[in-house]
Amino acid sequence: MEKIYLDHASGKQVNNRVLEYAKPYLNEKIGNPSSLYSVGLEAKRAVEKAREKVAALINADEKDKVIFTSGATESNNLAIKGTVLRNQSKGNKIAASVIEHISVVNPMKELTKNGFVMNNIDVDENGLIDLNKISEIVNEKTVLTSVMYANNEIGTIEPIKEVSRIVHENGNYLHVDATAAAGFIPIDVQEDGIDLLTLSSNDIYGPQGVGALYVKAGVKLLPVLPGGGQEFGIRSGTENLFGIVGMGEAARIAKEEMEAESPRLQKIRDALIEGILQVDESYLTGHPEIRLPHHASFRFSRIEGESILLSMDTIYGIQIATGSACSSKTLEASRVLLSIGLKHEEAHGSMVITLGRANNMEQVPRIIEAVKGTIERLRMLSPL
Ligand code: PMP
Repeated sequence: MEKIYLDHASGKQVNNRVLEYAKPYLNEKIGNPSSLYSVGLEAKRAVEKAREKVAALINADEKDKVIFTSGATESNNLAIKGTVLRNQSKGNKIAASVIEHISVVNPMKELTKNGFVMNNIDVDENGLIDLNKISEIVNEKTVLTSVMYANNEIGTIEPIKEVSRIVHENGNYLHVDATAAAGFIPIDVQEDGIDLLTLSSNDIYGPQGVGALYVKAGVKLLPVLPGGGQEFGIRSGTENLFGIVGMGEAARIAKEEMEAESPRLQKIRDALIEGILQVDESYLTGHPEIRLPHHASFRFSRIEGESILLSMDTIYGIQIATGSACSSKTLEASRVLLSIGLKHEEAHGSMVITLGRANNMEQVPRIIEAVKGTIERLRMLSPL
């Protein structure tokens, strides 16, 4: 049985074109970008070219910085701890939406141990941020506000431009985690008014273990990883040459192909939503329209997400996610689903589909049949 992979938010196949492009930087072109001889200088040029490609994906100004990191978690940590600790003189408040990724929540929690006060900004039942709440909560003492571009579990896209206006009228810096959104919807940091933006390479089909933090010109950061002074002295450590070159090429391809690829995925998404919602007591989670083009998330009453995942995988050869892949070690109900007002028992029956390049319309009937079969069988077995 041919497998159908539908969990692209958790991991993506590295694009073959990216792999081919970056491969020489694993063995043939192995100079250290800090070395002054020719291969070192060539490596340095490759890093700078990758930086330009990532900057182009988000329309960064040439005065702004793109800092390469080891991934989205590090970028979020650097954005939050780096900015807040460097700008403590501005105040002791930090704010974040209640549906942020754990790699935003945890560095903020850590800061509260050092005297910072963390404020949560609610979302509505579709996961859209409460703009009034931002103006109530954020004030001149709020050093940093973090609101994600789009949520990885429910697909809702946040009104970042509006968020930015309110944050900048009332407080200081806006950090946006664009891990789930980048490469699927256009992002323009200048137009949106973003000060710091998190990107992940693998989420745009680049190599794992690399990410980037966009930092607007003038925003000062404390180096979270001090050392040899690479990456503008903000993120030390010898550059991950293969990863960085690959991420740059992945960004270039994403920018070039998004306009055709995202509407293609959106058609598959809509066909899946239509078919899956035929199942009794099934509900779409997240916003019905303002959602990522490749993202379809559901909940089904009276069954457990883990059982759905296992049935889909072992019986039908289809990989889906339930709740956040990043916290699947705990069997707790998803924080995001509770935040949009679901009860614990409702939040437990969740199924998340994130589409990618290998998916196509021909797969849709098989996926819908698998979901129907799974839910029917599990409901027959369910004591609820
Ligand atoms: N932010 C969001 C929105 C995510 O979905 C994830 C996980 N893919 C992360 C941050 C963390 O990414 P990583 O585990 O690759 O550092």
